[in-house]
Amino acid sequence: MSADRLLLGGFLAVLLVLPAVLSPYYITLLNYIGLYAMVALGLVLLTGVGGLTSFGQAAFVGLGAYTTAALTTAAELPGWLAWVGASPWLTLVAGLLITATVALVLGSLTLKLSGHFLPLGTIAWGISLYFLFGTMESLGGHTGITGIPPIELFGWTLDEGGEIYYLIWAFLLVAMLTTHNLLDSREGRAIRALKGGRVMAEAMGVDTSRARMIIFIIAALHACAAGWLYAHMQRFVNPTPFGVHIGIEYLFMAVLGGAGYVWGAIVGAGVITVLKQWLQDWLPQLLGASGNFEMIVFGILMVLVLHRAREGLWPILKKLVPVPAVRKKIDDAAAPLPRRTLPAAGEPILVAKNVTRKFGGLVANNDMSLEVRAGEILALIGPNGAGKSTMFNQISGVDTPTSGEVLFLGKPVAGHDSREIARMGMSRSFQHVKLLPTMSVLENVAIGAHLRSGKGVLSSAWRLDRAEEARILKEAAWQIERVGLKDFMYEEAGSLALGQQRILEIARALCADPCLLLLDEPAAGLRLKEKQALGELLRKLRSEGMATLIVEHDMDFVMGLVDRVVVMEFGQKIAEGLPDEIQKNPAVLEAYLGGVE
Ligand code: ADP
Ligand code: MG
Repeated sequence: MSADRLLLGGFLAVLLVLPAVLSPYYITLLNYIGLYAMVALGLVLLTGVGGLTSFGQAAFVGLGAYTTAALTTAAELPGWLAWVGASPWLTLVAGLLITATVALVLGSLTLKLSGHFLPLGTIAWGISLYFLFGTMESLGGHTGITGIPPIELFGWTLDEGGEIYYLIWAFLLVAMLTTHNLLDSREGRAIRALKGGRVMAEAMGVDTSRARMIIFIIAALHACAAGWLYAHMQRFVNPTPFGVHIGIEYLFMAVLGGAGYVWGAIVGAGVITVLKQWLQDWLPQLLGASGNFEMIVFGILMVLVLHRAREGLWPILKKLVPVPAVRKKIDDAAAPLPRRTLPAAGEPILVAKNVTRKFGGLVANNDMSLEVRAGEILALIGPNGAGKSTMFNQISGVDTPTSGEVLFLGKPVAGHDSREIARMGMSRSFQHVKLLPTMSVLENVAIGAHLRSGKGVLSSAWRLDRAEEARILKEAAWQIERVGLKDFMYEEAGSLALGQQRILEIARALCADPCLLLLDEPAAGLRLKEKQALGELLRKLRSEGMATLIVEHDMDFVMGLVDRVVVMEFGQKIAEGLPDEIQKNPAVLEAYLGGVE
């Protein structure tokens, strides 16, 4: 048995026997820790992994709590609703549905906000929902709702702390397991790309807006389930625990525990809950005065953590118990992913016709035409500021020409977003490499296969996606081998040298099974050896039938490599032809020697 399994088994065994040995006081404390951890877990996914900060999670806890409180205690429900109030299990479903709906509405209003507007948005609806609970007469106003029945499970009434304890921790463990599974999947890689990799992910075909909405709803559902458990544990609810200040505390828990880690949720919830209790008990005695000293200590503690341990406590704890990292196994027997048939060599696959792009008075591309044929490498070169990147953007659909058009496989590129263009078979690298530095090379490359696979969140959470995942990983491993990075497959992408990172980007692009590769200045910043390796790789890909368009500033790199060259200066095409002809072309020499090299 592996070390991490053993540790997990030990943890579960301890959880199982704790109620038998602990006093009710500590069991209650553990119940709270479990509930808080569940909300914090949602924030791990939303904030730690997805990069979306929410102060409003307490409001979703309130939705879960109030839904079940109102429905299970109402003296009279309208006929069509009466059956829901019959059992807390039905009100749990009702609460989850209501929460999902509310999250969908709030998410579509707030998730488009960027920067600090998003957290502000979550504060705004957090406050609104809090006051809604306190204001609605039918929800008992600020006094709240009492007389909530206990949960029954297989004829067992969970009306004591030591009983509901098992339900709370079972919920939490299932939530942790499914979150862990989700993060280690196709959808999980898309979610992990949200923080700092949106442009890249979109270019690989990931719908990042959808991914943001998904984690927002999942986090809300975790909070709702915690609220449901809370209501039936306390047997009464009032608005106090669902305010924004508690929302802030949940965020503290996630950050202190380690917002990027599933286990961070328990650590954060545990440390904060226990510490708060102790400080509350001891500080007034120590200082000989009463007051909320614990909150002051807390504030200072948080600032220290933000300074000293940004990643939270979990990574520090993990280092104390060295468990060897488990490498993803590549299953050679997995069926290959479907492959697209490449167009016959020589066929024009990309055609730019009279493309003009103006930025105000500046004409960055002026009447540019070019053609890339299947199985060739075409270079688009020119001095700095010539308009190459602008042209690249017109071709890759990132930007739309002022006039003229770009056809890819006979279809216009304009009007399609990066995802659709990726689906059509155009795959790109970036001038400034866009990798997920803490993810392995293998996982970075696997993102490229996003569009060639389709398992969703539920399949991933419950591990019904393993056959497809094996196919994706096999494909990624093969592309890594193809580009010559096999020895680095399990390294963190961020630890690679720039040249290798560029090659990783090519492997990721290849993983999408494109028929056209677009490379924006792939040789920039590379050492001679790295340039040679890159050139060799591109030659090999050409021999396998790949069409490549390289936008490049470095003439020497291009000349020995490509089939044809298009030269730009001041937004216009000044020459086109074979490398040998271009090297002797006086206009080109003038542009390069006299240009702003
Ligand atoms: P290259 O990639 O060949 O170095 P670019 O395509 O980046 O050249 O730039 C060509 C010209 O267009 C430059 O003068 C640049 O300042 C201008 N330009 C590029 N993008 C924009 C933009 N979004 N808005 C205004 N001017 C731009
Ligand atoms: Mg450029």
